[in-house]
Amino acid sequence: MSRGFRDEDVTQAMTDKAMADTVSRVLEQEAEQEARSADRRQHGEAGSCEDCGRPIGAERLAALPTSTRCVRCQSAWEQANR
Ligand SMILES: [Zn+2]
Repeated sequence: MSRGFRDEDVTQAMTDKAMADTVSRVLEQEAEQEARSADRRQHGEAGSCEDCGRPIGAERLAALPTSTRCVRCQSAWEQANR
């Protein structure tokens, strides 16, 4: 009687590999993002979205201090840069 454990193992292995790839890419992007947010802070532009210019939101900045885009622009950017 199969309960699909093997399929789950394969799926898990693929997920782990994808996760490792994603993590290394995310770390790269984070370093880039940190440099950019520091640059924006220097120019007094932190807190507003670099794409639409609207306030990013204190909550988002508290959770992710290096944010340079609002939630909407960030998800659009992530879609475009996947
Ligand atoms: Zn925006």
